[in-house]
Amino acid sequence: MMSDVCKHCVKAGCIEVCPTGAIIRTEFDTVVIQSDVCNGCRACIAGCPFGVIDMNMISGTAQKCTLCYDRMGVGLEPACSKACPTDSIQFGPSASCASARRNAWTSSRRKAKCAPGSTVTTRTARSAA
Ligand code: SF4
Ligand code: SF4
Repeated sequence: MMSDVCKHCVKAGCIEVCPTGAIIRTEFDTVVIQSDVCNGCRACIAGCPFGVIDMNMISGTAQKCTLCYDRMGVGLEPACSKACPTDSIQFGPSASCASARRNAWTSSRRKAKCAPGSTVTTRTARSAA
């Protein structure tokens, strides 16, 4: 499984290749394209190793996930993590997200084992089927 959204890289290829300075690192340590500074040259599309930048055909400028810059500006978490019903998308420091994932995994395993007549299907079992 692979996530195909912007990783807001520490060393962002898109920032390095942009000739106009349209792509910036924000105060939240995220990477954002300023469409009013973009000239549509597409250099960032080639500069991103993850293929997450696309062109907005209406404005003729590059676009990608902003990690909800506007929401973060007012103290809200990104809309994707807020809306995800299974908490598959989590927002926060990576250490606390990893800990939450471990707890969720342990809890789901316990529930599966306790359910009467239940069997636990592991990833290995599924892929072998
Ligand atoms: S657009 Fe690509 S290179 Fe730029 S921060 Fe996102 S994932 Fe990294
Ligand atoms: S398309 Fe826009 S954001 Fe991308 S490299 Fe060119 S000027 Fe920068």
